[in-house]
Parts: sequence; C-alpha cells; structure tokens
Amino acid sequence: MQPNKEHNQPKVPEFDPEYLRKKYREERDKRLRTDGNEQYIEVKGEFSYFLEDPYVEEEIQRDPLKDEVEVLIIGGGFGGMLAGARLREAGIDDFKIVEKGSDFGGTWYWNRYPGASCDIESYIYFPLLEETGFIPKQKYTNAKETLEYCHIISEKFNLHENACLQTEVTSTKWDQDKQQWIVYTNRNDEIKARYVVHSNGPLNRPKLPAIKGINDYKGHTFHTSRWDYEYTGGSSDGNLTGLKDKRVAVIGTGATSVQCVPHVGASAKELFVFQRTPSSIDVRNNQPTDPDWIPSQKKGWHNERRNNFETLLSGGMVKEDLVSDGWTEAFRMLFGSVREKAPSKTQMFSWALTAPFSSKLYSQGFKKYMTNKAMEHMDIPNAMQMADFQKMEKVRARADEIVEDNRTAESLKPYYNQFCKRPCFHDEYLQTFNLPNVHLIDTDGKGLSEITEKGIVFEGIEYEVDCIIFATGFEVGTDYSRRAGYQIQGRDGISISEKWQNGLSTLHGMHCNQFPNSFFFGPAQSGFTATYTYSLDEQSIHLAYILKSAKEQGAKVIEATKEAEEEWVNLIIEKARITADFQKNCTPGYYNNEGQPNPKSVQSQAYGKGPNAFFKKLKAWREDGNMPGMNLS
Ligand code: NDP
Repeated sequence: MQPNKEHNQPKVPEFDPEYLRKKYREERDKRLRTDGNEQYIEVKGEFSYFLEDPYVEEEIQRDPLKDEVEVLIIGGGFGGMLAGARLREAGIDDFKIVEKGSDFGGTWYWNRYPGASCDIESYIYFPLLEETGFIPKQKYTNAKETLEYCHIISEKFNLHENACLQTEVTSTKWDQDKQQWIVYTNRNDEIKARYVVHSNGPLNRPKLPAIKGINDYKGHTFHTSRWDYEYTGGSSDGNLTGLKDKRVAVIGTGATSVQCVPHVGASAKELFVFQRTPSSIDVRNNQPTDPDWIPSQKKGWHNERRNNFETLLSGGMVKEDLVSDGWTEAFRMLFGSVREKAPSKTQMFSWALTAPFSSKLYSQGFKKYMTNKAMEHMDIPNAMQMADFQKMEKVRARADEIVEDNRTAESLKPYYNQFCKRPCFHDEYLQTFNLPNVHLIDTDGKGLSEITEKGIVFEGIEYEVDCIIFATGFEVGTDYSRRAGYQIQGRDGISISEKWQNGLSTLHGMHCNQFPNSFFFGPAQSGFTATYTYSLDEQSIHLAYILKSAKEQGAKVIEATKEAEEEWVNLIIEKARITADFQKNCTPGYYNNEGQPNPKSVQSQAYGKGPNAFFKKLKAWREDGNMPGMNLS
C-alpha cells in the first residue's frame, strides 16, 4: 500500500445552506428528550447477564490473595498494558495488572463482534510499534489482529507475569496510617499497593435503552460487546451460520452497528435494523500494508506520524498529510476552507474532534492565533459551517449512490454536523440495505416504543424476531464509580463520587487531591486523541516518570495540591473545546451529554488546545523537575 496515497475525493454536491440549517435544527429537535442519560438502564441485577464473559475458555481457580505490591493497575486494556510497559522500561517491576477479562485487550477483548475493527489507521493506532517491530497487515486493522498485538506487547514486556486475570476490583480504600491503598476484589483478594492506576476504560460499561417491556422478551438477546458466537456461529470474520434460519433485530446504528450489520445481514434469514439516528458513513478504503514500508522508516517515524495526524485534527498545518484518510480529509476541508480565504502563517486554535462551529469562543480563539489581519474580518464560523455542509453533502450523496431504494437511502442520511457524532468509515454497510432480507426500520428520531415476548413494536407493528442484538453503546457521563464498577475511598473516607459530585476535578486529568498515590487514565481533563492509544501512551510515560522520580527522591506519598487542581479545572473550563452553544445545536448523543450539555459535562472535556499541546505541557512539566502542583512526602 501507499501510506500517503490521496484519499478518494467524491464530487462535492451543491447545497442550499438555509435549507440545511433548518433541516439540522428540525432533526435535532425531534430527538431532544428530557430524560437524557436516564433513558438508559444500568446493566445490573436482573440485567447482569448482559455482562457475563462469553469468551472465557477456562475459569481460573485460585485462593484469595493477601498481597502487597508497589503499583496496582486496574484494567488490562491498552492503558494498563502501556502503563506496565512504561513502568518496566523505567525499572519498576513490582506491579500487578488486575483485569476482569480472561486476557489482556480491554475494549478489544470485549468487542469481538463480527466485523469489529478500528477505523483509525493501524500504523498510528497500534502503540509501541517501533519497540515491537510489528507490521500490521492492513491500513485499518481488525479485532483479531489487535488482540494478537496485545499478546505481542505482553510478551515483549513480560506482562503476563504481572497479570491477575478474571478478577474484578470491587473497592479501593486509602489506609492513612500505612499510607497505601487496599484493593478488594470479587475473589476476596486484599491487595495492598503503594500506588493505584485507574485504567478502567472510558467506554467499558454496556448500556441498554429503557424500552417498555424489555424484560418480557423471551427470545435470545445479547449486547454487541458480549457477542454470543455459540448462538450465531462464525467469528469476528463473519460467516454467522447459526443465523441462517433466524430473524434477527439489531437496535442502534452507531459505529459498532455499522461494522456488524453487514455480517448479520449476510447470514441471517431476515434482519431488521432499528435506527434512531443514522451515522455518517464515509469511505474507508482499506489497503494491505507494503511489508517493506515500515522497515524502511527512520527511527521516530511512529511518533512523527501520530503527531502529524493529531496536528491535522487539531486544525494545525503539516507539510504532508501522512495518514491521508477520511479523518484528515474532513479536517483539511474544515480548516482549509478558512485558509484558502485568508492564508495563515500560524497554528490554528483547535477544537478539533468535536465541532468547531457557531461559537463566539471559537472565533475569538481562532483569531487570537491568527497573525493575518484579514482573518479578523472573516466570518470564520460561517466558513467552517459551509465546509462542514459540503463534507456532509458528500456523505449524504454516498447514500444515494449506493442504496437502491430511495426511501431507505433518505433515511440513512445524517443531518447534523459531522463531529456531532462519531463519524464512521465503511465500504459495505450501506450496501447491506440492498439485500432483500435486510430491512431498515427508521424510527425517525423517536427510538423504539415497546418490546414484547416475541419481538419489537414500532408504530403499532410487531416485528417478531428470534434474537435481539443491542448495539446501544456504553455509559458516558454517569457517575465515575458506577462506570468503573468500584468505589474509591480516599483520605478521611471521602469517596470519589462525593469528590466529583459537582464536576470532575483533577490535575492533568490524572491526579486528584484527597486521593494520594492514585493515577486516573482517560480523556477527561486530559489530552483526548482520536488515536486513543496515543494519549494512553503519553499518560503511561508520565506515570513512569513520576513514580521513578518519587522513588529516587525517597517519597512515599504523592498528591496534587488543592490549588493546582483548581487551577487546572479553571483552565479546562476556559479552554473547553465545545461550548454549550455548539453542543446545544448538535443532535443528541454521548458527545453532548445526550442533548443536555451543562457546566458539569463541559468540565469533563479534554484540554481544549488539543492533544499535542497537552503532551507538550506534560513534557515541560516533567522537564521542570520539581513536579509543580504536587506534594511529595
Ligand atoms: P453508540 O453510543 O455510538 O451508538 C448507540 C446506538 O444506539 C445509537 O445509534 C443510538 O441512537 C442507538 N440507540 C440508543 N437508544 C436507542 C433506542 N431507544 N432506540 C433505538 N436506538 C437507540 O455506541 P457504539 O457501540 O456504536 O459505539 C460506541 C463508541 O465506540 C463509538 O462512538 C466509538 O468511539 C467506539 N467505536 C470505535 C470503532 C472504531 O472503529 N475505532 C468501532 C466501534 C465503536 P442515537 O444516535 O439516536 O442515540
């Protein structure tokens, strides 16, 4: 493959901006609801079977542990693995990774549904590529190769030696006298740890819609993150032979559904896809890797490529778009539209991943960073809105080109700004709706009204099905400990739920006053990248630096000061990428707190100047050498 080959550029259709503005508003308004996150059921109690691990091959039998380690890492996904790898590199070997699954992999352990793959380029998504020398087979990898890669990392850094699998943390408690954490698990373990790393994943807890009668259904059912291959047959490559005589319903049309629907459609006797909001489906254009390309790269190529991608996604300029795909094209179009009109010499202010429109703050920020006087007189939000309309018109035109039935094609068109929701890239999803056995049931923004013993009811019609697959996503925006699955009790007994009840409060997204020796991994108040593993890697490098320095200085307790934390929170709010204004204009989804943006959700945003700026900030902090804002004792 040619890694920098130009991405296909479909023809740009003409459009009427006023019509689109009105249409976007109408489509959003249809979907606004008062119950926000409450529209979903917490998966527990009678629904806990949705969380069972279908991938366990052999249940581990062991006695409860009464252990003591220097570092306990919660979560064995890329975050936990990277933390382990970077600690190992720093000479810290006394750590344990506690993971609820039977193996490493996190997201990729759970999400093995047919078609599961990553639509971020593999050469930037896979971390530690230079360290492992691994060559991904394709530009976009799949779940199978990603799990294999997890094993390669684990072998390279001997992480299995430190693993405690099939074990779920139930609570953690700070012991003030001993100045260490006590971590309890569902296997009655009691593990003492000087430090705890919370790497439990931002999208780890499946959610279900609270549809009337959801309990009454007598057929088979599961969530996409616990795919039941025993029932469907086949594998993540598809060929779901068990479905050939089955009528199947898939609820939801987000990024997961987009990837699994083509396989279910190809195998099931009949498939009903229940849609509330269509995703934007852009070109994917996967290609095999030229095996000589990675070995021919100079040292440092991996970071350079990750940086190049994130720079573009942050509205910055690069000499060459190295990744050159649907993601970078979207951002080149957005920011390029402004540059064309007023060529700029500087780095642009970024809100990158999430939409940068119609906001006073945006244009103020943007202008602040532009040196070209002409910029100050431009209507930047409008120029960018036009670019977004253009991009989305291409996406909508694609539905018309591919989907034969006009009504179905119309229903599959997304009417919102591209980064209101997670954009999708797929070359078989839209085609699936041309199959005679596949039916799109478009609920026109309403969602489903009822589930019965036999199937799903929408607008008075009962769709009888043998199986319902919930592609309804994961909890975002609910209480941290509810999503993590355990409570954290810090200094003087304060819980993390109490601490964050009025909004997230951290230093660098990672440290929290009153919770000494804890490290939180995740995108909130930190550097959020579309290449999520990149942020996790930077967080791991930061963690390893801190623990190594603490050791060298003989410090046993590290804690963010109250003042530093307050300062960081204020900075996050000040630089929040998404203004309430913009969020309000978006169609509801987990990006905008289900259509209910509020100061608390804004406070949970990532650092607003973009990931590269955040990583630079962390690097400068490390280079300072004094760990400003932290107390070491
Ligand atoms: P999402 O939250 O994106 O999608 C959930 C879907 O369920 C939405 O279409 C939603 O509709 C629908 N839904 C919810 N309630 C109802 C209801 N009552 N009736 C009908 N439909 C309903 O979850 P996903 O699992 O698809 O994706 C989660 C995230 O995982 C992605 O955003 C992405 O970040 C990541 N991912 C990444 C991939 C990659 O390639 N790297 C691949 C897959 C996932 P509505 O939109 O109206 O709310």
